[in-house]
Parts: sequence; structure tokens; C-alpha cells
Amino acid sequence: MRVVADLDLCQAHQMCQGEAPDVFGFDAGADKVTLLQEHPDESVRPQVQAAVRYCPAMALSIEES
Ligand code: SF4
Repeated sequence: MRVVADLDLCQAHQMCQGEAPDVFGFDAGADKVTLLQEHPDESVRPQVQAAVRYCPAMALSIEES
């Protein structure tokens, strides 16, 4: 899987870090999410899916690759 973050949509709620802290970081200067892993292991798929679901800005998505 490939994780995609739309930085134009990100509103810095930081919900994603709570759901998947190994995958999502935060750039305090830019006030935007950062991707720590663009292609995370399948084992963290449930956490990434939760982050996608709970992002209030709907800025996150998963692409299958
Ligand atoms: S939860 Fe969504 S809006 Fe909040 S930091 Fe993560 S990507 Fe951005």
C-alpha cells in the first residue's frame, strides 16, 4: 500500500498521529502532517485505515500498489 496525504486539505488536527504514530508525523513549522513511511508494512494497515477514517479533513488515503 501507499499512503497519500493531501497537504492542501490537512488542517493539523493530528488525529492521524494518534491512530498510527509510526506512519504519521507532524511538521510544527508548516502545521501539516508528514509521512514517516510512504509504504508501511501490511501489519499496520488497520492503524492506517483508522487514521484515514478519522482524519477530520479527509486528507488521507490509501492507494494499492
Ligand atoms: S488527522 Fe488529517 S488534518 Fe489532522 S494532521 Fe492528520 S492529515 Fe492533517
